[in-house]
Amino acid sequence: MNILGIETSCDETAAALVRDGHQVLSNVVFSQIPLHVKYGGVVPEIASRAHVEKIGEVIKEAIVDKIDAVAVTWGPGLSPALIVGLNAAKGLAKALGVELIAVNHIEAHLHTPFLDSSLLPEEAMPALALAVSGGHTTWIDMPRYTQYHIIGQTLDDAAGEAFDKAAKLLDLGYPGGPKIDKIAKEYLARPDYKRSDLISFPKGRAREGVSSLSGLSADLCVSFSGLKTALLRYVQQSGGAKKLSDDGEIPRIVTSYQEAIIEALCDRTARALKKRDYRSLIVGGGVSLNSRLRDSLQRVADRANVKLLTALPKYCGDNAAMIAALAYYRRNRSGQEAMSLDVNPSLEAGE
Ligand code: AMP
Ligand code: MG
Repeated sequence: MNILGIETSCDETAAALVRDGHQVLSNVVFSQIPLHVKYGGVVPEIASRAHVEKIGEVIKEAIVDKIDAVAVTWGPGLSPALIVGLNAAKGLAKALGVELIAVNHIEAHLHTPFLDSSLLPEEAMPALALAVSGGHTTWIDMPRYTQYHIIGQTLDDAAGEAFDKAAKLLDLGYPGGPKIDKIAKEYLARPDYKRSDLISFPKGRAREGVSSLSGLSADLCVSFSGLKTALLRYVQQSGGAKKLSDDGEIPRIVTSYQEAIIEALCDRTARALKKRDYRSLIVGGGVSLNSRLRDSLQRVADRANVKLLTALPKYCGDNAAMIAALAYYRRNRSGQEAMSLDVNPSLEAGE
């Protein structure tokens, strides 16, 4: 069964054709990053216009074979951006006379390790899943495939957001994650690198009272607001970002900051893995591209004796292959009902 996926939840206009939930026949992604760079973040109005301009072209390029169903992201995401994809998907499904399947974007990120892979999702269960992206940092217990229980999350910024905000403060450009990853990688590879040289930033501890408001236990939650404030204070005390040298101070600060985020993510993951006898650890979302995070999570998985499942780099960021692939396993949500579907910008994982 060939499913055409459409994704426009944020700043990527994407369409892809996927066979039977695994085999990617086409994967077209138009990134709007250059349009948003000067604002240091995604501007919803600009994103929406760019989706309208590109969606036709992107879908056309993705149609490389017959289409048996159309799948689309209906949330979470930016409302004016989601609407463009949903309307295009409705029109296409209607014109072709095929079913329309609505897919949750976060859930789709968790399907990415199964793209271009013969591993069946059910074979990976029970799994602990970690969604780490620009908008989410969430730990999810998956007893069976497509069953989700959120057991931990960030209480404020998502990990990707924490990377992006630090990069903005240090004037490193947008998006910050890849830039910080690269600078830290070079710093950690220096022959004179010593762990004791790193700045001791707060490690994302969540306050007990705040996490209990969301019904989650603090030991499986993170909070990056203290880390962000500590960075700001450190930069101010050093006389501002412009005073910091590109070859000395910036790499040391950036590496220390990244280590604090990664330590927080790995610590909560290790704790969560102890709660149940898991078979695998699934990690999806843009931040899972981070090389240091991947290595660290591999060690966490090895220690817990579970298999780490991550996506190929081309499927880590937003794409439509993950939408089309998950839709294959979510066909029961299709039909007429989906034709009257509205976008749901604040959709929770699993909805
Ligand atoms: P997504 O929300 O899934 O589209 O992912 C985008 C987010 O991933 C942004 O916040 C990026 O800064 C972040 N990101 C992308 N590549 C990396 C990387 N190598 N290291 C850390 N964060 C990254
Ligand atoms: Mg995403």
